[in-house]
Order: sequence, then C-alpha cells, then structure tokens
Amino acid sequence: MSTRHRILTGDTPTGNLHIGHWVGSVKRRVELQSEHECYFLIANLHAYTTRADKPHDVHRDCIEVARDALAMGVDPEKAAIFLQSEVPALSELTYLFAMLLPFNRVMRNPTLKDELQVKGLADNYSFGFPLYTVGQTADILAFRAHSVPVGEDQVPHLELTREVARRFNKMYCGVADKAPDEEHEQLGGIFPIPVADVGKVGRLVGTDGQNKMSKSLGNTIHVIDTPKQVKKKIGKIYTGQDSRQPTDPGIIDPEKNPLFQYLDVFVNDEDMKSDIRDRYERGDNIGDGEVKMLVADAINELLEPMRERRKAYEDDAVVLNVLRAGTAKAVEATETTLAMAKNASGTGFFPRTVSFC
Ligand code: ATP
Ligand code: MG
Repeated sequence: MSTRHRILTGDTPTGNLHIGHWVGSVKRRVELQSEHECYFLIANLHAYTTRADKPHDVHRDCIEVARDALAMGVDPEKAAIFLQSEVPALSELTYLFAMLLPFNRVMRNPTLKDELQVKGLADNYSFGFPLYTVGQTADILAFRAHSVPVGEDQVPHLELTREVARRFNKMYCGVADKAPDEEHEQLGGIFPIPVADVGKVGRLVGTDGQNKMSKSLGNTIHVIDTPKQVKKKIGKIYTGQDSRQPTDPGIIDPEKNPLFQYLDVFVNDEDMKSDIRDRYERGDNIGDGEVKMLVADAINELLEPMRERRKAYEDDAVVLNVLRAGTAKAVEATETTLAMAKNASGTGFFPRTVSFC
C-alpha cells in the first residue's frame, strides 16, 4: 500500500494470545504499524458473549492480551491498543447499525453458526451473542478503517461490515445504489468499504489436530508457554498416524497430518521442509516424533524474543498506561465518526466531548 490507511483489528480477552493469532493477524499488525494508522481493539464487551459470569477473568485477560500483543512486537508508540468498553461510540454505533441489518441476515453468518456449535452453546446463547457480529461492524466502521488484518474465520464478519457500510452510505449520505465500493467516500459516503487482509495462514489448526486453534477450546500454544510446555503440547498433537512406525508408502498424505501445517508455517529452512515431506510421502524411515521435534524447536525459536520482550511489561501499571493512551486515541477517532454518523442519520442534536479522569 502506498498511502497511509486506517487499520482496525482486535482480539477477544478470552485467554492469552496464541501462535494462531500471530500467524493469522498479529504478524501483519507488526508489519503495518510503521506505515499506517493502526488501532488494535481488546473486545472485552464481546467476551461477555461467553463469559458474562466471569468478570474478573475478563478484566485480567484484557491486561494479558495487551501484554501478549506487546510481547509479539506491537509498538505502543506506533499503534493504539484500546479497550472496547471504554469507547462509548462503539456501543452507540452498534445500536444504529443493528437497525440496518435484517435479523435473518445476522443469523445466517457461517462463523456465528460455527462458534455456537464449537463452543457448545446450542440454543442457550444470549441475545448478545449474535449482536456481537453487529458490534464488530461498529468496531471497524467507527474508525472508518480501510483494511482489517484477520484470520479466515473473520471474513463473514467483514462481509457483514461491508454491507452495513454500503447501506448506511446509500441511505444517509446519498451514495448512488450501484456505486462501486472504492468510490463510496469520494461520493460523499462516511464509511470506506473495508477489506479483509487475511494473513498467509488464515486458519492454524489447534493442538487437537482438528479445530481452529482457539483460546476457548484449550488447543493452543501461547506466547507465555515455556519451551518445555511447547515441546509437551506439540508432542501430544493427535495426527491420526502411528508416530512410532515408519509410514506406509502409498497411504500417507502429509496434508492429512496437521503437523505438516506447523512444519510449513514455522520451519524456515525450505530444503529441510521438502526433504521431510518427500521422506514422509515415500514412507521412508520417519515418524511423527522427528517432525514434532523440529516443529517444537522452530516454535520455541519464534517465541523466545517474545518471551524476552514480555518481561518489560510484567507490571500491570505499565500495561494499563499503554491501554489508557491507546483508548484515549481511539475515543478521539471514534467520536469524530460518531458525530458524522449521527448528523447523517438524524440522531445528532448537541456536540459533546468524552474524557477520562
Ligand atoms: P475465541 O476462542 O474466544 O473465539 P480465538 O482464539 O478465536 O478466541 P479471537 O480473539 O476470536 O481468538 O481472534 C482474534 C484474531 O485472531 C482474529 O482475527 C482471528 O481470525 C485470528 N485468529 C484466531 N485464531 C486463529 C487461528 N487459529 N488461525 C489464524 N488466525 C486466527
Ligand atoms: Mg474467535
């Protein structure tokens, strides 16, 4: 990208950040933060979709997620890390945007359906659960973001956001019905139509070898894991193959072995990777154990500088200062958008300011 864009993305404080976050989104954030105006949200209101009964855990995890992001290389001098619950414009826009979306459209979102199933919520989810997808449209549009670095699972949410932005611009800003997405701002629309910036690895599988690596599923490798814990977790990955035996020629397909995604993503030596893949496919004398060892070493090498950087943020007060500064910046940016959106939609009457003590 040649011009300075606004970037918004974030994480839910449902636990510590993991290597899926790194490959799916955080690595991209670190790359973008020097060139672009970046806002990284801690979605603590959305955490209540599954953790309303654990306020203290959510509160603690806000600080943990911020600390992990800083450990991974997010620079507070360049990017604003902020708390969703302290930015009032986000909730206000959620209400307004909820009016622009048919209920059935919200419920058709495939990621929402997946989450309800994987998180075992059946019919017992709160009214707020589907509402969080609308909230996410507000999180993004409040910054009038152009681009959203996310994992694959977030693409349907982004599509919903794009629909809201188009509808708002057409309904309240006079943008013509068939206007191309790229021209909305130019034609007087308040909101750019944002694009999803999916990382090279859109969906890292978890250590259960099946589901997406997810904080809520306990199939994660965290930044805070010790080298020993990483080895242990990798050692336990269920690959569906017998790790002690040489593999059978003609039967083994590395693509079916989740370990090979880890090999591809975390081991940098291309020659070594293709050698292992060849030997594995041929059923040569290689078992999962050897691959696991390589993968564990590579992940530990990735995490080592993060563990080191994390030490500078051990004190909660230091992290809270980062969050306070980032949240103040986020409030300023979103109040401007909110005022514009209220004026356009007929809900604005009096100017206001928001400040923290
Ligand atoms: P939860 O289980 O609470 O939903 P999570 O582990 O899915 O937590 P989120 O906070 O929902 O994490 O996701 C934050 C960002 O990280 C999103 O952009 C998401 O797409 C990305 N992400 C999360 N897990 C992965 C993964 N396994 N692979 C790639 N990207 C991921
Ligand atoms: Mg998630």
